[in-house]
Amino acid sequence: MTDTYDFDFAVAGGGPAGSSAAISLAQRGHSVVLFERETFPRFHIGESLLSTANDHFAKLGVAETMEAACFPDKWGARLFTHDGLSGRGVDFTDVTEVTKPKTVQVCREVFDKILLDRARELGVDVREGYRVNACELGPDAAILDVASSDDGVAARVRVHALVDATGRNGLLARKFNLRTDEPLLANIAVFSHYKNVPRLAGDRPDDIRLVARNDAGWFWLIPISKELMSVGVVVPKSLYLQLPKGSPEEMLDRAIAGTPVLAELMRGATREWPVRVEKDFSYSASAYAGDRWILAGDAGSFLDPVFSTGVSIAMESGIEAAIELDRALARNDFSARQFAAFSRRQRRRFKTFRRFVVGFYTPQFRDLFFDPNPPRHIFKAVVTVLAGKWDSSLRTRLLNRVFFAIVAIQKRFSLTRMMFRRDPSAGYPGE
Ligand SMILES: Cc1cc2nc3c(=O)[nH]c(=O)nc-3n(C[C@H](O)[C@H](O)[C@H](O)COP(=O)(O)OP(=O)(O)OC[C@H]3O[C@@H](n4cnc5c(N)ncnc54)[C@H](O)[C@@H]3O)c2cc1C
Repeated sequence: MTDTYDFDFAVAGGGPAGSSAAISLAQRGHSVVLFERETFPRFHIGESLLSTANDHFAKLGVAETMEAACFPDKWGARLFTHDGLSGRGVDFTDVTEVTKPKTVQVCREVFDKILLDRARELGVDVREGYRVNACELGPDAAILDVASSDDGVAARVRVHALVDATGRNGLLARKFNLRTDEPLLANIAVFSHYKNVPRLAGDRPDDIRLVARNDAGWFWLIPISKELMSVGVVVPKSLYLQLPKGSPEEMLDRAIAGTPVLAELMRGATREWPVRVEKDFSYSASAYAGDRWILAGDAGSFLDPVFSTGVSIAMESGIEAAIELDRALARNDFSARQFAAFSRRQRRRFKTFRRFVVGFYTPQFRDLFFDPNPPRHIFKAVVTVLAGKWDSSLRTRLLNRVFFAIVAIQKRFSLTRMMFRRDPSAGYPGE
């Protein structure tokens, strides 16, 4: 067995990162097998996208399908404080550095299947209900041990290289102990889907609503279809542990009741799913690629959901992983050295978003972010990154530095109204 391969490449995981990698590899003429342990459609959280997702849809050849799916339009976000008073907009149409500002919010069962079906359409051998149990990365090949989730029937597959897109399950991150935790983002999310939640008034009824609680927590409200609204609360773990105990349903109900703007909006709402809980979801990786392997999406790193970066980054990194592997096959060199630029890029993107996410869990950042009248040019630069344009122009990067300088000054002097509590019981991790 020296140069016989079952496929050129294998992809583990059929979420947005895995499907995007598989599609992009197939578009480049490679034979690809994709193993997904679940059978689609399956539930997944992560429903609000960024403007840059439009570029990925175009590259993956799903722009028309996405248009036809009629997902709710997202033009940006509406920000509210817990009392509902200081609501203002984050408008993606202000951003000139993206191809198309308007994006969508999706029901993941439908969305993930659109991507997986597209991979199949391009000839990817998609095997749903197959789990990758182990992977051996030798000098000549990557060898995967897979088993059917139904009957346990096992198989071995030999390929040039593996894209690990197994999400938070992290097949290779666990094997190689790659994960680096984010103690400042040790948060817990409690969420479900509801009917009969009123949409926003005005011409952008389906924008995401982000509601800051009276402590370090916050809520999302994301319309994912004509009827359904995804509603979830995120709180730092240390704060969560101090809350009265109860079932996830009770925790979510109490959190809603304790936040006036939510209590009002959810008065007539009916819950359509059990309440789910996710925790410890922020981490990065000490390496994003190695000999004959590459990580895409959450398998590499993930940041708190506050700025809805996960799915758009997952697609972007899946496409980038495919470009790297295409190049590596042309050179017949799959060594870690070949992937150094890929790893640097993943790290740079993570660090760019991380600064905003960690900032959000400080009262000073929130004072500025929720300010009804922020400095226009500076805020436009902030929104540019939050629309997904993390590799923005020099001007935008400089203006973002000014934004963070103002946040730092706000720690000592009150440049803008102190809307958010600073006392330790507010639960901000850095305070
Ligand atoms: C509370 C919360 C809210 C979020 N909200 C948002 C949001 O609003 N917007 C946003 O963009 N992102 C959001 N995210 C993030 C988003 O869920 C993820 O970033 C996104 O799903 C990553 O895509 P992925 O393809 O990397 O991983 P996943 O979508 O998790 O896909 C991984 C796939 O791999 C499969 N798999 C796992 N192990 C194996 C194995 N061994 N063999 C075969 N298959 C395997 C899984 O079944 C899964 O289908 C949120 C996350 C959380 C925790």
